Amino acid sequence: MNYRHSYHAGNFADVLKHAVLARIIAYLKRKDPAFRVIDTHAGIGIYDLSSTEAQKTGEWRDGVGRVISAKLSPELREFLAPWLEAVATLNPDGGIRTYPGSPKLTRMLLRKQDRLTAIELHADDARQLRRVFEGDYQVRVIELDGWLALGGHLPPKEKRGLVLVDPPFEVDGEYDRMIDGLARATRRFPGGSYMLWHPIKADSPLAGFDKKLIALGRPRTLTVRMLTRDNMTAPGLNGSGLVIINPPFTLEAELKVALPELARLLSQSPGGTGAGSEVRILVGEA
Ligand code: SAM
Repeated sequence: MNYRHSYHAGNFADVLKHAVLARIIAYLKRKDPAFRVIDTHAGIGIYDLSSTEAQKTGEWRDGVGRVISAKLSPELREFLAPWLEAVATLNPDGGIRTYPGSPKLTRMLLRKQDRLTAIELHADDARQLRRVFEGDYQVRVIELDGWLALGGHLPPKEKRGLVLVDPPFEVDGEYDRMIDGLARATRRFPGGSYMLWHPIKADSPLAGFDKKLIALGRPRTLTVRMLTRDNMTAPGLNGSGLVIINPPFTLEAELKVALPELARLLSQSPGGTGAGSEVRILVGEA
């Protein structure tokens, strides 16, 4: 396990993932009953963007850094609001120095009846995460293989909630592990919402992944992709995607409005060539 999210926190992929995560949680809060968020690959929770790691790559500058200094359309501002408000709360003096990872962002959005289970396998990261939530009775931090949580931890006792699966993709077979994990998890907790992150690189097996998701056939499966540059020629991370099962009913339409502008804003090529987005239903209503 070499992957360290501190090098990448706040980059363009985090912007998409965290903005959508915050919107899904905002939607869950529209109903009174408690819900639980299960974050299977949680990271360390809070990232210092002035750290050696973050400064070394500077990825956040072309992610959250661009968003907070841009003039956004009212539609995009509204879409990003739950995430941007949390980011602003952590940076009360303005600008951006402290960035909330998925468990911290989630925690900032919970009501007192809601709960978070944050799972992290890397021992040092799990220790840091535990420190972030020390004494917080609404959060349980577990040092565990997150893929196991897609079995034993489901359904949560609240019977409502979201499962976030955000693995580092540093070993082969993560796409298939996602399909297997989803198959198990959705059998145990069919009413839950799921959000799974994946990278987009020139050699990512996306067509095969889509086929397997369609074959899995879970009702209301949405795929969301954002490219920040041409995916055919550039090496490295050219974009990122989310698979969302049981999304909020308004999310597809909101994403179709917000993502083209977000992709232009986060573009990494001259003139925005190759940047773009896609929002597509893979499996419809039951
Ligand atoms: N979800 C975090 C966020 O958005 O702020 C970022 C997570 S980062 C992409 C992936 C994390 O998964 C790393 O912290 C890594 O140590 C952890 N990890 C790797 N393999 C794991 C496994 N099998 N189970 C749980 N965590 C794992």
